[in-house]
Amino acid sequence: MKKFIIIMIILVFSLCEKTFANNGQNYYQTVINTKELAGPVFEKMRGYLYYNLSGMGTAYPYVLDLVDPATLDQMAPATYKGMEVGLYKFEGTYHHIYMINNLAVDDFLGTVAHEYAHAWQTENCPHNQNIVIKEGFADWVAYKVLQMDGALNAANNIFYRADPVYGKGFKIILGVEDQRGIAGVMEYVKKTVNGE
Ligand SMILES: [Zn+2]
Repeated sequence: MKKFIIIMIILVFSLCEKTFANNGQNYYQTVINTKELAGPVFEKMRGYLYYNLSGMGTAYPYVLDLVDPATLDQMAPATYKGMEVGLYKFEGTYHHIYMINNLAVDDFLGTVAHEYAHAWQTENCPHNQNIVIKEGFADWVAYKVLQMDGALNAANNIFYRADPVYGKGFKIILGVEDQRGIAGVMEYVKKTVNGE
């Protein structure tokens, strides 16, 4: 009887442990709500860019912060209020990326890649570059990263975007890639101001 009780206790214990382990994993796969969860996804994104998009990376340091929707809304430019899930600002000596809290992992990966592309643009592209090219390139970077990660649904959401800024700009950059390849895209955005 004593042996039986001990075995039962061990069994219950190991079952509990399994449940908690699964919960931890599902939690990680569902939303990004702490800097500890955001960090590895951000580093994975930087690796994809460095190794697959012609050594794409930034020289200035960066700060990544998670903020609640109201805070992000306050910082967003008027035209984007209520729509932004990420925001980029160059704050004199460092790149600052603000990400909305509780994004699904794929959405976080795509959005943080988009914002990081803006950081790269600050260092490499004409500052008076057309907004269509600017946003189109940032979406193209997000699209590439999502494809590399196998997040094909999220990549398709970018591909089928049809608005006159992001959607239009993305198609322009995709056209440049078709003709000149990835290195050609990087050269194109470093030089182009209008490009429509
Ligand atoms: Zn943008």
